[in-house]
Amino acid sequence: MDLSKIFENNEKWIQSKTQNDPAYFENLNKGQKPEVLYIGCSDSRVTAEDLMGMQPGELFVHRNVANVVNAIDLNAQSVINYAVTHLEVNHVVVCGHYSCGGVKAAMQAQDLGILNPWLRNIRDVYRSHKDELNAISDEDKRYDRLVELNVKEQAINVVKMAAVQRAMRKRGMQIHGWVFDIKSGKLIDLEIDFQKALSDIMEIYRLED
Ligand SMILES: [Zn+2]
Repeated sequence: MDLSKIFENNEKWIQSKTQNDPAYFENLNKGQKPEVLYIGCSDSRVTAEDLMGMQPGELFVHRNVANVVNAIDLNAQSVINYAVTHLEVNHVVVCGHYSCGGVKAAMQAQDLGILNPWLRNIRDVYRSHKDELNAISDEDKRYDRLVELNVKEQAINVVKMAAVQRAMRKRGMQIHGWVFDIKSGKLIDLEIDFQKALSDIMEIYRLED
Protein backbone atom coordinates (compact mmCIF):
# COMPACT_ATOMS: atom_id res chain seq x y z
CA MET A 1 0.00 0.00 0.00
CA ASP A 2 1.27 3.43 -0.96
CA LEU A 3 0.80 5.60 2.12
CA SER A 4 1.03 8.80 0.07
CA LYS A 5 -2.51 7.90 -1.04
CA ILE A 6 -3.65 8.63 2.52
CA PHE A 7 -2.38 12.20 2.30
CA GLU A 8 -4.05 12.65 -1.07
CA ASN A 9 -7.29 11.35 0.45
CA ASN A 10 -6.85 13.81 3.28
CA GLU A 11 -6.59 16.73 0.85
CA LYS A 12 -9.80 15.59 -0.88
CA TRP A 13 -11.52 15.22 2.48
CA ILE A 14 -10.54 18.79 3.47
CA GLN A 15 -11.97 20.04 0.17
CA SER A 16 -15.23 18.14 0.64
CA LYS A 17 -15.65 19.53 4.17
CA THR A 18 -14.87 23.15 3.27
CA GLN A 19 -16.67 23.27 -0.07
CA ASN A 20 -19.99 24.38 1.42
CA ASP A 21 -18.65 25.56 4.75
CA PRO A 22 -15.32 27.42 4.51
CA ALA A 23 -15.23 27.84 8.31
CA TYR A 24 -15.68 24.10 8.95
CA PHE A 25 -12.30 23.47 10.58
CA GLU A 26 -12.29 26.83 12.35
CA ASN A 27 -15.55 25.81 14.04
CA LEU A 28 -14.30 22.27 14.73
CA ASN A 29 -11.29 23.79 16.48
CA LYS A 30 -13.53 25.62 18.98
CA GLY A 31 -14.21 22.45 21.00
CA GLN A 32 -16.21 19.28 21.25
CA LYS A 33 -19.58 18.45 22.77
CA PRO A 34 -20.25 14.85 21.73
CA GLU A 35 -23.56 13.30 22.81
CA VAL A 36 -22.32 9.73 22.64
CA LEU A 37 -19.40 7.73 24.03
CA TYR A 38 -18.75 4.73 21.79
CA ILE A 39 -16.78 1.77 23.15
CA GLY A 40 -16.05 -0.69 20.36
CA CYS A 41 -13.62 -3.24 18.96
CA SER A 42 -10.38 -2.28 17.23
CA ASP A 43 -11.34 -4.47 14.24
CA SER A 44 -10.56 -2.60 11.00
CA ARG A 45 -13.93 -3.56 9.51
CA VAL A 46 -15.95 -1.87 12.24
CA THR A 47 -15.52 1.80 11.42
CA ALA A 48 -17.44 3.53 14.18
CA GLU A 49 -18.20 6.97 12.72
CA ASP A 50 -18.55 5.72 9.16
CA LEU A 51 -21.10 2.99 9.82
CA MET A 52 -23.19 5.31 11.98
CA GLY A 53 -22.97 8.33 9.70
CA MET A 54 -21.51 10.41 12.52
CA GLN A 55 -19.48 13.53 11.84
CA PRO A 56 -16.33 14.82 13.56
CA GLY A 57 -17.27 16.16 16.99
CA GLU A 58 -20.29 13.88 17.45
CA LEU A 59 -18.71 10.73 18.86
CA PHE A 60 -16.20 10.19 21.66
CA VAL A 61 -14.47 6.89 20.92
CA HIS A 62 -12.64 4.16 22.77
CA ARG A 63 -11.63 0.99 20.95
CA ASN A 64 -9.70 -2.09 22.03
CA VAL A 65 -9.61 -5.81 21.25
CA ALA A 66 -13.15 -7.16 21.73
CA ASN A 67 -14.59 -3.98 23.34
CA VAL A 68 -13.56 -4.89 26.87
CA VAL A 69 -14.18 -2.63 29.88
CA ASN A 70 -11.86 -3.72 32.67
CA ALA A 71 -11.77 -1.99 36.07
CA ILE A 72 -7.96 -1.80 36.16
CA ASP A 73 -7.52 -0.68 32.56
CA LEU A 74 -6.54 2.93 33.23
CA ASN A 75 -7.05 3.79 29.57
CA ALA A 76 -10.70 2.67 29.36
CA GLN A 77 -11.49 4.01 32.83
CA SER A 78 -10.00 7.42 31.95
CA VAL A 79 -11.93 7.65 28.68
CA ILE A 80 -15.23 6.76 30.36
CA ASN A 81 -14.68 9.08 33.31
CA TYR A 82 -13.71 11.98 31.06
CA ALA A 83 -16.67 11.43 28.71
CA VAL A 84 -19.21 11.03 31.50
CA THR A 85 -17.98 13.64 34.00
CA HIS A 86 -16.43 16.35 31.83
CA LEU A 87 -17.98 16.03 28.37
CA GLU A 88 -21.29 14.96 29.97
CA VAL A 89 -22.32 12.59 27.19
CA ASN A 90 -25.95 11.49 27.34
CA HIS A 91 -25.36 8.00 25.98
CA VAL A 92 -22.70 5.34 26.46
CA VAL A 93 -22.70 2.64 23.80
CA VAL A 94 -20.82 -0.65 24.06
CA CYS A 95 -20.76 -2.03 20.53
CA GLY A 96 -19.47 -5.51 19.73
CA HIS A 97 -19.52 -7.24 16.38
CA TYR A 98 -20.13 -10.72 15.02
CA SER A 99 -17.02 -12.43 13.60
CA CYS A 100 -14.94 -10.81 16.36
CA GLY A 101 -11.44 -12.31 16.34
CA GLY A 102 -10.89 -11.45 20.00
CA VAL A 103 -14.03 -13.29 21.09
CA LYS A 104 -13.17 -16.22 18.82
CA ALA A 105 -9.67 -16.46 20.32
CA ALA A 106 -11.16 -16.50 23.82
CA MET A 107 -13.28 -19.53 22.83
CA GLN A 108 -10.19 -21.54 21.94
CA ALA A 109 -7.93 -23.40 24.35
CA GLN A 110 -4.70 -21.86 23.18
CA ASP A 111 -1.83 -19.99 24.81
CA LEU A 112 -1.76 -16.56 23.15
CA GLY A 113 0.97 -14.99 25.27
CA ILE A 114 0.42 -11.38 26.25
CA LEU A 115 -3.16 -11.63 24.97
CA ASN A 116 -4.01 -14.22 27.65
CA PRO A 117 -4.90 -11.79 30.46
CA TRP A 118 -6.90 -9.63 28.08
CA LEU A 119 -8.86 -12.53 26.64
CA ARG A 120 -9.45 -13.83 30.16
CA ASN A 121 -12.01 -11.01 30.49
CA ILE A 122 -14.02 -12.73 27.76
CA ARG A 123 -13.39 -16.22 29.12
CA ASP A 124 -14.90 -14.90 32.39
CA VAL A 125 -18.01 -13.88 30.43
CA TYR A 126 -18.16 -17.41 29.01
CA ARG A 127 -17.86 -18.91 32.51
CA SER A 128 -20.67 -16.67 33.84
CA HIS A 129 -22.97 -17.85 31.05
CA LYS A 130 -21.58 -21.37 30.64
CA ASP A 131 -24.93 -23.19 30.87
CA GLU A 132 -26.63 -21.04 28.24
CA LEU A 133 -23.65 -21.15 25.88
CA ASN A 134 -22.95 -24.86 26.22
CA ALA A 135 -26.61 -25.58 25.42
CA ILE A 136 -26.08 -24.07 21.93
CA SER A 137 -24.82 -26.94 19.78
CA ASP A 138 -24.17 -24.89 16.63
CA GLU A 139 -20.70 -23.41 17.10
CA ASP A 140 -21.35 -20.31 14.97
CA LYS A 141 -24.50 -19.52 16.94
CA ARG A 142 -22.62 -20.04 20.21
CA TYR A 143 -19.93 -17.66 18.98
CA ASP A 144 -22.56 -15.04 18.04
CA ARG A 145 -24.19 -15.39 21.43
CA LEU A 146 -20.88 -14.93 23.24
CA VAL A 147 -20.36 -11.72 21.24
CA GLU A 148 -23.76 -10.50 22.52
CA LEU A 149 -23.15 -11.59 26.12
CA ASN A 150 -19.72 -9.93 26.05
CA VAL A 151 -21.40 -6.66 25.04
CA LYS A 152 -23.85 -7.01 27.91
CA GLU A 153 -21.18 -7.84 30.51
CA GLN A 154 -18.84 -5.06 29.38
CA ALA A 155 -21.73 -2.59 29.49
CA ILE A 156 -22.51 -3.78 33.02
CA ASN A 157 -18.85 -3.12 33.83
CA VAL A 158 -19.52 0.46 32.72
CA VAL A 159 -22.52 0.62 35.07
CA LYS A 160 -20.32 -0.47 37.98
CA MET A 161 -18.38 2.83 37.80
CA ALA A 162 -19.24 5.54 40.34
CA ALA A 163 -19.20 8.37 37.76
CA VAL A 164 -21.58 6.41 35.54
CA GLN A 165 -24.01 5.62 38.36
CA ARG A 166 -24.00 9.30 39.32
CA ALA A 167 -24.72 10.41 35.73
CA MET A 168 -27.51 7.84 35.35
CA ARG A 169 -29.08 8.97 38.63
CA LYS A 170 -28.61 12.74 38.29
CA ARG A 171 -29.11 13.42 34.58
CA GLY A 172 -30.65 10.27 33.13
CA MET A 173 -27.61 9.22 31.11
CA GLN A 174 -28.34 5.97 29.24
CA ILE A 175 -26.27 2.86 28.52
CA HIS A 176 -26.78 0.81 25.37
CA GLY A 177 -25.55 -2.56 24.09
CA TRP A 178 -25.27 -2.89 20.33
CA VAL A 179 -23.82 -5.40 17.87
CA PHE A 180 -22.58 -4.70 14.35
CA ASP A 181 -23.24 -7.52 11.88
CA ILE A 182 -20.40 -7.49 9.37
CA LYS A 183 -22.25 -9.88 7.01
CA SER A 184 -25.12 -7.44 6.45
CA GLY A 185 -23.71 -4.11 7.65
CA LYS A 186 -26.59 -3.82 10.11
CA LEU A 187 -26.27 -2.23 13.53
CA ILE A 188 -28.44 -4.15 16.01
CA ASP A 189 -29.70 -2.81 19.33
CA LEU A 190 -29.66 -5.73 21.79
CA GLU A 191 -32.29 -3.81 23.78
CA ILE A 192 -30.72 -4.73 27.09
CA ASP A 193 -32.66 -3.42 30.06
CA PHE A 194 -29.85 -1.67 31.93
CA GLN A 195 -32.14 -0.32 34.64
CA LYS A 196 -32.97 -3.95 35.46
CA ALA A 197 -29.33 -5.00 35.09
CA LEU A 198 -28.47 -2.12 37.40
CA SER A 199 -31.01 -3.13 40.06
CA ASP A 200 -29.79 -6.74 39.82
CA ILE A 201 -26.21 -5.76 40.60
CA MET A 202 -26.81 -2.74 42.85
CA GLU A 203 -26.79 -4.72 46.08
CA ILE A 204 -23.10 -5.30 45.47
CA TYR A 205 -21.93 -2.50 43.19
CA ARG A 206 -23.83 0.58 44.37
CA LEU A 207 -21.45 3.48 45.04
CA GLU A 208 -23.11 6.31 46.93
CA ASP A 209 -21.78 9.84 46.78
ZN1 LIG B 1 -13.54 -7.62 17.28
